[in-house]
Amino acid sequence: MFALVAMPVNDPEHGFCRDCLTPQSGRTMRCAGCGSPRLARHAELYRLPLAHIDCDAFYAAVEKRDRPELRDKPVIIGGGKRGVVSTACYIARINGVRSAMPMFKALEACPQAVVISPDMEKYVRVGREVRAMMQALTPLVEPLSIDEAFLDLGGTERLHGRPPALVLADFSRRVEKEIGITVSVGLSYCKFLAKIASDLRKPRGFAVIGEEEAVPFLAGQPVTLIWGVGKAFAAALERDGIRMIGQLQAMERGDLMRRYGVMGDRLFRLSRGQDDRRVHPDGEAKSVSAETTFDADLAAMADLVPVLRALSEKVSARLKKADIAGRTVVLKLKSQDFKIRTRNRQLADPTQLADRIFQVGLQLLAREADGTRYRLLGIGVSDLSDDGRADPPDLVDEQARKRAMAEGAIDRLRDKFGRTAVETGYTFGKGRNAHPPEHLED
Ligand SMILES: [Mg+2]
Repeated sequence: MFALVAMPVNDPEHGFCRDCLTPQSGRTMRCAGCGSPRLARHAELYRLPLAHIDCDAFYAAVEKRDRPELRDKPVIIGGGKRGVVSTACYIARINGVRSAMPMFKALEACPQAVVISPDMEKYVRVGREVRAMMQALTPLVEPLSIDEAFLDLGGTERLHGRPPALVLADFSRRVEKEIGITVSVGLSYCKFLAKIASDLRKPRGFAVIGEEEAVPFLAGQPVTLIWGVGKAFAAALERDGIRMIGQLQAMERGDLMRRYGVMGDRLFRLSRGQDDRRVHPDGEAKSVSAETTFDADLAAMADLVPVLRALSEKVSARLKKADIAGRTVVLKLKSQDFKIRTRNRQLADPTQLADRIFQVGLQLLAREADGTRYRLLGIGVSDLSDDGRADPPDLVDEQARKRAMAEGAIDRLRDKFGRTAVETGYTFGKGRNAHPPEHLED
């Protein structure tokens, strides 16, 4: 009889205990094995392959692990130069503390909070440990950041001897035991819904969104759940009377595209739970970059900037061609005495736009233009992913949005008439011709 129950059957009544992995059958409230109430049940539980795993309040969780006396206290990671909250533990969140909140406000809301300045080196180390455990489950791991990733477990059932749902539940248990932090898992058939699911039951969550329920589930959700719909775009939709995803489901593709351009197509597809983006495993290792060695060493910003612009455009062109985007901008300089300086900055969203790469590069370069004579300049992006999440239209900065639109227009002209048909202010003139960029790919 037990063998029959142990067979992973897709049946809404069947499932397993997330604490001891014992199979369950029937509508019991607690595990037949260990008595835990943390049961996973879903009609499509054993056939969904795509997961999004997200560590819970990651930085704060790592600090609590290392300082157990903080376990029951509100903990905020942040401060430093920007003076904002990086991560708040769940106790601090209950008190109203949120990520990106100015520290003084956070302490108004929760004066008893323990504030810890971030130890990025440690978080990167722990993040890598978690990632290594993910990569032991499937080669298809696409990191989104230090503490979250998509995993495609399709086709791994034979390897693991059990379906993805059980593999993931076991993974969560092992992360808690071996690393000492907790994760939340979202399981679905596509990236869009897996990401939404992982957020539904945080912390220590395990949420499933199946194909059957995708459309009705989405119908009742706000449009802001769709990636790329931030404050400004949501406001634009609101002006058109659209607030819920269900309203988008009732609209024609052509209508949406007429109103919202490319984003209209995304609204059409995602509102219906259609997302065929695949999991790209090459998130962290690779980068796309371009660099050039000067004929004569350069020190002045005025000489370096046009080169930076031309190289940024080169990097952008290659990203666009490959339909990928990078989240970290990396500036590389080699000084007269062959010392290499690399400076990088992580963006909130991946980009493939020349202008964004250039603007960030410019900020990094400004700090290094200290009179040092340079013989080489390079710019690139790393943390690559597919471009589905790149450059959300909801750029807060209106100027940046306009530049992004202009860049699209420039790209179309260049496609038609060739690269040199359109010169931007930065590349026109001396810089471009004096230093024809060569490129190197890591
Ligand atoms: Mg997280």
